[in-house]
Amino acid sequence: MKIFLSVDMEGISGLVRWMDVASQGIDFDRNRRLMTLDANAAIEGAFEAGASEVVVEENHGVEDLCVLLTDEVDARCSVVRGAGRPGPTTMAGLDESVDLVFLVGHHAAAGTWPGIMAHTVSGGRFKTVRLAGQRVGEPDLFAIRAGEVAAPIGLITGDQMVIEEVRKRVPGVESVEVKRALGRQSGEIIPPARAREAIQQGARRAVERAQRGEFTPYRGEPAPYEIEVELVEAPDDVMRANLATLPEFELAGDRSVVTEAPDMDVGFRRIAYLSYAHTPGATRY
Ligand SMILES: [Zn+2]
Repeated sequence: MKIFLSVDMEGISGLVRWMDVASQGIDFDRNRRLMTLDANAAIEGAFEAGASEVVVEENHGVEDLCVLLTDEVDARCSVVRGAGRPGPTTMAGLDESVDLVFLVGHHAAAGTWPGIMAHTVSGGRFKTVRLAGQRVGEPDLFAIRAGEVAAPIGLITGDQMVIEEVRKRVPGVESVEVKRALGRQSGEIIPPARAREAIQQGARRAVERAQRGEFTPYRGEPAPYEIEVELVEAPDDVMRANLATLPEFELAGDRSVVTEAPDMDVGFRRIAYLSYAHTPGATRY
């Protein structure tokens, strides 16, 4: 059984504020170690339960998506990292060969309250991302993409809000609440040492349940996908000029961009593109 493990930083045990996850923040090297150890706990649990392969993919958008400490990550896995990956940016390793998906250290959607560092793709630039008119977060997009390649979601770790969001699409998902959000940058945490034990157990249960056929791939969202990204600020001239070369995007109202994506590979890449579409000359994604 091959596991695809997407690891983000906002939902890692012990971390509650933006300064914890920014490369110029506070104790960043220590915090990336916490991220590595939460991932390791899930990897350990997966192998214990009989997984044959674990591919870890980095999802945290600082340091060109190279945040894990590779000399401390479990030696049995492989790691997909770095910017400019083919396919849907941070899901390059999520393909038909994957049997089960873990989301470790993920966070709630933009607009969720409370929700530790809640955002969708871009904390600074996106106010909300909607799919067919409904607000969505990154785990929603992962669940949809995973469904397209017939891989079920087996595990989510993070705060109570991201868990609630994932359960809406995947009611039986294994979940590990490593902290309880009290605001956007505050929460009641359980110490990482204990959180990691819970993550290891959750990962083990997820693989055992997958072996018993208890999970089914999510297929609740009909394609094509009607995606709307509501921006924090109205697009500037550079962004307008870039978007004018890409007919698949359409400006809607003051500060929204809409697009219709045939699948979530393309959909996720388009959403990610809008986070840097204000960069001069950025007309490819
Ligand atoms: Zn992140």
